[in-house]
Amino acid sequence: MDEQVRQHKITLEESEMPTTWYNLVPDLPSPPPPALHPGTHEPAGPEDFAPLFPMDLIMQEVSQERYIDIPGAVLDVYRQWRPTPLFRAHRLEAALGTPARIYYKYEGVSPAGSHKPNTAVPQAYYNKIAGVKKLTTETGAGQWGTALAFACALFDLECEVWQVGASYDQKPYRRLMIETFGAQVHRSPSELTAVGREFLKDPKNLPGSLGIAISEAVEVAATNDDVRYALGSVLNHVLMHQTIIGEEALLQMAKAGETAGPDVIVGCTGGGSNFAGLSFPFLREKLAGNMSPIIRAVEPASCPSLTKGVYAYDFGDTAGMTPLMKMHTLGHDFMPDPIHAGGLRYHGMAPLISHVYELGLMEAISIPQIECFAAGLQFARTEGIVPAPEPTHALAAAVREALKAKETGEETVILTALCGHGHFDLAAYEAYMAGLMSDEEISDARFAEGLATIPSV
Ligand SMILES: *Cc1c(COP(=O)(O)O)cnc(C)c1O
Repeated sequence: MDEQVRQHKITLEESEMPTTWYNLVPDLPSPPPPALHPGTHEPAGPEDFAPLFPMDLIMQEVSQERYIDIPGAVLDVYRQWRPTPLFRAHRLEAALGTPARIYYKYEGVSPAGSHKPNTAVPQAYYNKIAGVKKLTTETGAGQWGTALAFACALFDLECEVWQVGASYDQKPYRRLMIETFGAQVHRSPSELTAVGREFLKDPKNLPGSLGIAISEAVEVAATNDDVRYALGSVLNHVLMHQTIIGEEALLQMAKAGETAGPDVIVGCTGGGSNFAGLSFPFLREKLAGNMSPIIRAVEPASCPSLTKGVYAYDFGDTAGMTPLMKMHTLGHDFMPDPIHAGGLRYHGMAPLISHVYELGLMEAISIPQIECFAAGLQFARTEGIVPAPEPTHALAAAVREALKAKETGEETVILTALCGHGHFDLAAYEAYMAGLMSDEEISDARFAEGLATIPSV
């Protein structure tokens, strides 16, 4: 093969790393509906969040500022792996025979192997300076627990993680990694909390769910003065911390010569944080008339909160302890099938993304897991990175778009986030390669059961 000189990675110097997070809210044509107190159904004030979060994060949650400075101590940790590379997927493009140009922003270079440390680090930092001693949290696939355990180790905080039972049983290496960073891990539902003991009474709850694990972690934070809770997705401040991804990608796309910006941005959505992190800075440019990308969320067919859920006030957890948030939801009681992309098994979608979706500023599709793993395998065998199961959904959508370009002959510019690597998810690849993976059809009756649990507000 002839030697070719072509650029694969578009990188930035540490000195070029953005120093502010971007808040989309002031740029939207209407503000998102407020969170409501779970008891009174009145708009929740900062004091309602105070048992769970430090005031700096609460103020970010409701901020109207367009840009928020990233503290120096956080920038210093970010520089350990940021700026992350943007790759041009030359070899995947060649394998697909497409005229499309595919770019992926790779967040798997972080210490936890995903985008999650982008918010774990500032959350640990703001809790530390507020005098908090310990953080509690939930983890599904184990990515968020790993990220928070890492961040707590750096800022000398204790960390206690409730891991969804099914994933605790299937993913011993994620648990061990969390413990290596110094955090304590419990199988959820656990005997350690009142809600956990309640859920354990019904055997159907034994595999656990993110909603149940959140209830347990929230209970411990709410009932202990020097303990706070940290959430890895969904909330406004989490989405905002992730915008460092999109801000860097904007600079890198320009550096790659893509001055018109991408034609299509696709990203996987569980709670929506990596998708928002990549796309919101581009949405800002779109709203300002500087570029016109189609922005498309991709969710698993087995947990399709945007495409099959309703837009309503619902709880963030299964026990109904969190404030009510207006979001696309399958019902806080919805128990998703144990699909391999554990990080996408959440019943709701970030309220801010839900609002953006309602405003018609983005699209959403769902894709079943077999098509996703096929794309993941093709990606691994061309680009050399084994993707986490979650971003295989984004890759499957990118492949669809690239094959469409092949038919029309258009040089579509596609941008996606490869938000994590799959080094701890090889059992899922094993199942796929052995032909043991299946696409679950969810019956209308099961959706109806979940939707019936949404409170009337
Ligand atoms: C947690 C996680 C997700 C899902 O969360 P979002 O908030 O939707 O980004 C997706 N991919 C990976 C690798 C994750 O760790």
